[in-house]
Amino acid sequence: MNSSCEQKQNINVLLVTLSAQGHLNPILKLGKILVNKGLHVTLATTNSALKNMSSAPKCIGGVYHEFFSDGLPIDYDREANMDYYMDTLSKFGPVNLLALIKSHPRKFACVVHTPVVTWVSDVAAEINIPNAMLWIQPCTLYQIYHRYYNGLDEFPTDTNPNMNVKLPGLPVFHADELPSFVLPSNRFRSLDSILKQVFHNMHKVKWVLGNSFMELEKDVIMSLNNGGCVFWPVGPLVPATLMGKEVDVGFDLFKSNEDSNCMEWLNKQKPSSVVYISFGTFLFLTEKDIKNIASGLKTTKRPFLWVIRVPENQELPKHGFLEEIKEQGLIVSWCPQTQVLSHPAVGCFLSHCGWNSLLESVVAGVPVIACPQWTDQPTNAKLVTDVWGVGVKVKKSLDGVVSGEEVGRCVEEVMSGLKSEVIRKNALELKAAARVALRDGGSSDNNIRMFVDEVVSSCSCTEHK
Ligand code: UDP
Repeated sequence: MNSSCEQKQNINVLLVTLSAQGHLNPILKLGKILVNKGLHVTLATTNSALKNMSSAPKCIGGVYHEFFSDGLPIDYDREANMDYYMDTLSKFGPVNLLALIKSHPRKFACVVHTPVVTWVSDVAAEINIPNAMLWIQPCTLYQIYHRYYNGLDEFPTDTNPNMNVKLPGLPVFHADELPSFVLPSNRFRSLDSILKQVFHNMHKVKWVLGNSFMELEKDVIMSLNNGGCVFWPVGPLVPATLMGKEVDVGFDLFKSNEDSNCMEWLNKQKPSSVVYISFGTFLFLTEKDIKNIASGLKTTKRPFLWVIRVPENQELPKHGFLEEIKEQGLIVSWCPQTQVLSHPAVGCFLSHCGWNSLLESVVAGVPVIACPQWTDQPTNAKLVTDVWGVGVKVKKSLDGVVSGEEVGRCVEEVMSGLKSEVIRKNALELKAAARVALRDGGSSDNNIRMFVDEVVSSCSCTEHK
């Protein structure tokens, strides 16, 4: 073993994240990559992650796990009381994380956190450990928030709610294509103030790593770095299953309630024939949405695999419209999404455009039907249609409803319409580019190496002081 290898194995990195699926997935993947580069990695999250687990996982893919309290009982309904949850977390999280770090047998050389737990920067500063942030949305969103929270450009206001916005490295955005938090209509106080804090505290962060890759968002990444930010894309941070590897163990906060095995069901379908539908882990569809999507799917007569999550203590509505299409597809409460997207039977993905889902679709080369709802999703949908050309967007009626006819129209447009061939070709090109970025010497691999080298050298500098 050479001396640089030996040196790295003594270097401990601590990753800290909110206990949410879309945050755990990319940071766990980053952890596995750092383990492969020779570092020792610990991932700390709040113990609400253990709600649906019989026992706490100790180590996944070489990444060790630790849990700390967010100040609330494990069974507390955090999603239903988001503002209170965020306030409590920012009060108790720093104290409990600091106690965890101080009592831990390993001395951490670097702390990496995801954006919502921005107070981690203060904990790291207090004990003098260098800090990196893993930005888990597109770099496009980083640029929009950076410009918005630092007052660098004009954004829609109560008096001018529909203005267009043009920012460096990005196309023109209409107001309804911007993230919901920068609009005057935003109702989520705590998330807006957390983002404000993130962008006012950036001076405390030494490195910003992004879950994206140069070839996917080149103009905006170049513009960020030319504008004085140090922003290194290291993605796509997605499970290895999407790269054709065997099943990759993850950290699933949810479980499927059914006996049905969706992979066996997919094995029986024709190549590129299935419409896969999921709206991620936060959104619950209304009964009207479910009814309209069902009626749209029925008109297409195409097989579908549909993840419908229902709030705890509630059941899926057992109405005629789901009975009617039962034979045409499969409805589940949770599925191994990355395995599903890599399955040859999947022809398109009707998605809310959460960033993890979108990146997974990009890496799988699966065309997208974008049905965004809030936060970064409207902006991500714009990337799908106007920047990458890998899908279409569902048009909502003025009252925000998605009609069955519109769902049917979008499915046909992506599966067999005039644009379908170009969409599929673009999707396959991005799939190939994602693999190149991660390969030895690829753009993201180079950024990871630079990060690891800097952590190693900042660690040796401290040791020599
Ligand atoms: N996911 C999954 N199975 C499901 C639904 C979702 O594994 O049935 C995973 C999906 O692969 C993705 C994450 O949950 O990694 C959802 O993250 P995303 O950013 O897309 O959306 P969010 O839930 O944060 O809105």
